[in-house]
Amino acid sequence: MHYQSTRNSKISITSAEAIKKGLSEEGGLFVPESIPHISLDEISEFANMNYKERAYAILSRFLTDFTETELKNCIDNAYTKEKFETNNIAPVYKLDNNKYVLELWHGPTCAFKDMALQILPHLLTASMKKTDENDEVVILVATSGDTGKAALEGFRDVEGTRIIVFYPNDGVSEIQKLQMVTQEGDNVGVAAVEGNFDDAQNGVKRIFTDERYNKILADNNLKLSSANSINWGRLVPQIVYYFSAYADMLEGSEINLGDKINIVVPTGNFGNILAAYYAYKMGLPVKRFICASNKNNVLTDFINTGVYDKNREFHTTISPSMDILISSNLERFLYDLSGRDDNIISDLMGKLSTEGKYSVNADIKSRIDTLFSAGYADDAETMQAIKKCRDEFDYVIDTHTAVAMAVYDKYVQETHDTAKTVIASTASPFKFSQSVLIALNGHGFVAGKDEFTLLSELSEISGMDIPKSLEELKNKLKLFDIVCEKEQMMQTVSNFLQIG
Ligand SMILES: *Cc1c(COP(=O)(O)O)cnc(C)c1O
Repeated sequence: MHYQSTRNSKISITSAEAIKKGLSEEGGLFVPESIPHISLDEISEFANMNYKERAYAILSRFLTDFTETELKNCIDNAYTKEKFETNNIAPVYKLDNNKYVLELWHGPTCAFKDMALQILPHLLTASMKKTDENDEVVILVATSGDTGKAALEGFRDVEGTRIIVFYPNDGVSEIQKLQMVTQEGDNVGVAAVEGNFDDAQNGVKRIFTDERYNKILADNNLKLSSANSINWGRLVPQIVYYFSAYADMLEGSEINLGDKINIVVPTGNFGNILAAYYAYKMGLPVKRFICASNKNNVLTDFINTGVYDKNREFHTTISPSMDILISSNLERFLYDLSGRDDNIISDLMGKLSTEGKYSVNADIKSRIDTLFSAGYADDAETMQAIKKCRDEFDYVIDTHTAVAMAVYDKYVQETHDTAKTVIASTASPFKFSQSVLIALNGHGFVAGKDEFTLLSELSEISGMDIPKSLEELKNKLKLFDIVCEKEQMMQTVSNFLQIG
């Protein structure tokens, strides 16, 4: 299996090269040249497998240049009971005969990004070895919160890698800051940047593109890389859990083999829902995809009208991981829907960067319509969905999952669709305990309480245990207290790496 670029389909490279490179030179994203097929018989066999075995069955179809041992090592290192606090890794929770929640937040940072970022470092180091790269990889991340911590946990103590994360000093929550400054591991570095997220992001970009600096790194056998969500190595592990959910439902006799399900995904970058679409292309029986957005509803409008227009106000919401106006993984979806036409994609993406807007042709639009629905929920509707879910099912969800729940309820009201539906749950409610408790008990309830008190209150109300990784934060040592000016970021990297 080789990989081509969405903006140049003549490119043909191995999966190891695609994972090492991340992005293609002309700006396109790497996609497999064909989609492997999984038969219903194979899906029925998944019912008797554990998560690691399911992961091997799927990943081995895409990463054909990896040996069995290489791939199994990556999987064994990533999906452990220690890291996910459950053997199921991604368990399915039944709300009623129609609604099932796919819990993707049992990993070490309590959000679904762990599903990919726990395995990406291993795929990346294996890819480096396979392509005869002997340099050490230095992962640079600018983060507005979730990705930084998930990347730190994923790369900590992974041989052949270092990771340095910059976060905006005033732009992350107290818990998020604590999660990062207490990070353990011999190969990690964390620093706050005086400024906002854009300052941190621009600083990281400047380091990536500074030729002189990259030469200095090369002289020290170091090579910069990113853990960006457009890397194929982050997308492919996400396909696994949709098959896994279907297999669990089969095993529990909730569905019969071949029954079509709906899948609802709270969406930002379009990565998670794209993985579900790839699962469908591989043979997973799916009736409809429901793309859920918060008030930053650029994708809702796109799916409903065929016009993508990012020229709109940006809203800060209580589901911050979905506050996005450019959904980078949409490019892979459009490439597939266009019949793999790199000219169409280059044209659309050119328009996006010059005008901030494009519209797809009638063919593409009609393909979207046959499979996709979309809707959005504002903060008030999100709050109501959290309360309704607790009142009806005695089950507490986070703000991102609640966006999906609210959008799904509207969809059912409009369509009366009774197909069994899997709702992707992307974060633990404990990660957003303040908003969740306000939804359940009102503003007065949280006033004056610190983060750790809120965790205990939420545990009592929900009957769920506080995730170990959050509870332990209270007693962890703060290991990083570096705050740098944005002009000092390069020097900060050098200090961490102990060069020049
Ligand atoms: C990143 C994230 C999302 C959005 O996922 P995409 O793959 O970017 O669509 C949703 N919920 C949570 C909690 C996230 O961290």
